[in-house]
Amino acid sequence: PKYVYDFTEGNKDLKDLLGGKGANLAEMTNLGLPVPPGFTITTEACRRFLADGALPPGLQEEIDTHLGALEGRMGRRLGQADDPLLVSVRSGAKFSMPGMMETVLNIGLNDESVHGLAKQAGGNERFAWDSYRRLIQMFGKTVQGIDGELFDEAFEELKNGRGDLDLDAAELRGLVETFKGIVRAETGHDFPADPREQLRMAITAVFESWNAPRAILYRRQERIPADLGTAVNVCTMVFGNCGMDSGTGVAFTRDPGTGHQGVYGDYLQNAQGEDVVAGIRNTMSLQDLEGIDKNSYDELMRIMEKLENHYRDLCDIEFTIENGKLWMLQTRVGKRTAGAAFRIAVQLVDQGLIDLDEAVNRVTGDQLAQLMFPRFAKDETRTRITKGMNASPGAAVGKAVFSSERAVELAARGEDVILVRRETNPDDLAGMIAARGVLTSRGGKTSHAAVVARGMGKTCVCGAEELEVSTKERRFTAPGGVEVAEGDVISIDGSTGEVFLGEVPVVASPVVEYFEGSCAEEDELVRAVHRVMTHADSLRRLAVRANADNAEDAARARRFGAQGIGLCRTEHMFLGERRRLVEDLVLADADDERERALAALEPLQKADFIEIFQAMDGLPVTIRLIDPPLHEFLPDYTELSVKVALAGDRAEAKDRRLLAAVKRLHEQNPMLGLRGVRLGLVIPGLFAMQVRAIAEAAKEVPGTRAEIMIPLVGAVQELEHVKDEATKILAEAGVEALVGTMIEVPRAALTAGQIAEAAEFFSFGTNDLTQMTWGFSRDDVEAAFFSRYLDLGVFGVSPFETLDRDGVGRLVRLAAEEGRRTRPDLKLGICGEHGGDPESIHFCHEAGLDYVSCSPFRIPVARLEAGRAAL
Ligand code: ADP
Ligand code: MG
Ligand code: MG
Repeated sequence: PKYVYDFTEGNKDLKDLLGGKGANLAEMTNLGLPVPPGFTITTEACRRFLADGALPPGLQEEIDTHLGALEGRMGRRLGQADDPLLVSVRSGAKFSMPGMMETVLNIGLNDESVHGLAKQAGGNERFAWDSYRRLIQMFGKTVQGIDGELFDEAFEELKNGRGDLDLDAAELRGLVETFKGIVRAETGHDFPADPREQLRMAITAVFESWNAPRAILYRRQERIPADLGTAVNVCTMVFGNCGMDSGTGVAFTRDPGTGHQGVYGDYLQNAQGEDVVAGIRNTMSLQDLEGIDKNSYDELMRIMEKLENHYRDLCDIEFTIENGKLWMLQTRVGKRTAGAAFRIAVQLVDQGLIDLDEAVNRVTGDQLAQLMFPRFAKDETRTRITKGMNASPGAAVGKAVFSSERAVELAARGEDVILVRRETNPDDLAGMIAARGVLTSRGGKTSHAAVVARGMGKTCVCGAEELEVSTKERRFTAPGGVEVAEGDVISIDGSTGEVFLGEVPVVASPVVEYFEGSCAEEDELVRAVHRVMTHADSLRRLAVRANADNAEDAARARRFGAQGIGLCRTEHMFLGERRRLVEDLVLADADDERERALAALEPLQKADFIEIFQAMDGLPVTIRLIDPPLHEFLPDYTELSVKVALAGDRAEAKDRRLLAAVKRLHEQNPMLGLRGVRLGLVIPGLFAMQVRAIAEAAKEVPGTRAEIMIPLVGAVQELEHVKDEATKILAEAGVEALVGTMIEVPRAALTAGQIAEAAEFFSFGTNDLTQMTWGFSRDDVEAAFFSRYLDLGVFGVSPFETLDRDGVGRLVRLAAEEGRRTRPDLKLGICGEHGGDPESIHFCHEAGLDYVSCSPFRIPVARLEAGRAAL
């Protein structure tokens, strides 16, 4: 295979092979933008390297050929003593993993070529030694695995309180000697002087960085597959550190927080590479570049517009200016907040760059879910201690902690924490995941904290410069003598950048208020959501129903757009005060006692159903007859035995009988025991009472479309018994209702063709179906071994979260197909947790189901994803 592509050979669609960075460098090159020449080594070479532990055969030769061509074109050889070509070696995977892997700049410098570089730059010694010390520092840390602190400390000591620009050539030259000493001491060898050796080692290190612990953690968090590998980009160096007419910057074509068009970015004069995000000096805003270097600024604006029109989306950009000449070093379709995603999609439609289908495609259910998070109440009484930058929206409250380790520790104990740092770096990732929110005192909207938090959808305030953060003392101070120590509660608002002392109460988001119908579309975000949702509704084939078992949830579900109830559980109606009646039912040992108990329950059930039918006003309502084992309604065995024992002879007769019943009903494995349809067949009159209550309620609410659903059926015979009885009751009442079943036992799926003889609809109960297909008890396995399974890659995500297509999904498809063969108009739905999960909704669409049902709050998400699935 071909392992190396020149930037002129690739394009943006080759991300699998060239990584995002390489593919987009090629795209920009071919658009005629000023990109320093270079080439990309493919992800395939990386995969081979990681599998074999050695460079694949032929790769070195191919690299040599491309390097030779680059040298020819530039008219200088890599590291040539009197006139060196220098390159950067940059990682770049298919999916952006900010700061997770390695980049080394200034490859090709050594004790000779450093003089050649100075000469190239018109005798600029300072610049040459600055570049050399950067090489040793980056190479030592990332390629040779030396603790970066050693270099940082030596650097700090030399600066002695001065800024990096205050060091002169002689001092930087001395620093190079110190750094070389560190390398010698740490590795036992001299810093590698051979430019080709440097290049080879750096390429290998980038390959290996794919499996660095923080990269693995990031991928797991972001659900990026572990086996993609990274590409390596070898790119001719251009220099932002050779004077004040040079510099480096990052920019967005729009505000990634709001989506508004304008000039967003940071620029740092006389600096290289990551300086701008590392917070070594305060950056200036991109707008200020106009005053310093109008030519470069204007060209950058033209390029940004060109990129937006070309990618038809928000782009982020990394650039460098070398002596007044602009160079483009990276672009990609930029990460953005959930709100910006909706706004931008609609703005692009209005600009005529994309159509509404594409707009629906560009936003996700997860983003919509984020917009439904609550916000802080605008209340006069809250104590604002400072304001930083609104880096990633949301409202987070928690105890301040000052290290990643502490964040992980406290979060594991179930505490809400806010991670507070001067700035974050990739080592803080675990703490950022554990925290409710992140607060930093340095860095802009493009800092590590901001970029990573936005990617994770985590609330973040960054660059709160008034705060003095002391990680060592685990405290920070704010203006006015405010002190916050570890454990003190703070609240941070990622939408405004505000930081508050103590716990600030939260209120509903405007998007939720819009769905609730209580807010007009005057808000720009709400208008964007409205347009996207309206179009998604027009696209989707799947109907969306709600899981709701009271009038309040039913009403909310309708406001959120539910087209019916897909799962109304009846067991919740047996709790609270009514437990006593269920106890009477369980204790009844004569027919008349049992009938009395059921008769007492019936009017209560009927009243419940009336409310729900009224709330749904003619939309279909699927009611599941009682499902859980009866002992769930009885007192706890241990508590009851203690009570009876303590009372001794004076124990009430009912308690004694209850105790005996609890003992009798105890099951080793209740999920596989006496529940669902089995209860209906064993306890005479129970299901009949429920069906009667439904029928009587339906009579009182004209237009009702009730669907009676029998749980846990595994054989058509079970269903037939219940159905016969139900049909009679319905006929007597003169009420029409469908009778159907859940498909949640594997046998039901396997015999769906027979079951459909009796069932008028199927609803896939994918929680139980997943448990029983895998043989996993959901309540037990998640804590016991799921994280190990995720590590081992047995599955990429819990099958309880996202429907397992290969196993459970196969049963669903089979049952759908065979059921419809028996009964072509068989209605098919899903009512497990999966009904609100985006990936699973796409599966349901493909499998030809008629509807998904999910909790009321997930309904907008399901509507959107059902629309996206239809594209
Ligand atoms: P990341 O993936 O972390 O963004 P990059 O490979 O983009 O890493 O490198 C980080 C920074 O290093 C770039 O933004 C750019 O400023 C600088 N850099 C990389 N290659 C070059 C180069 N050839 N010339 C000048 N600067 C470079
Ligand atoms: Mg980097
Ligand atoms: Mg970059």
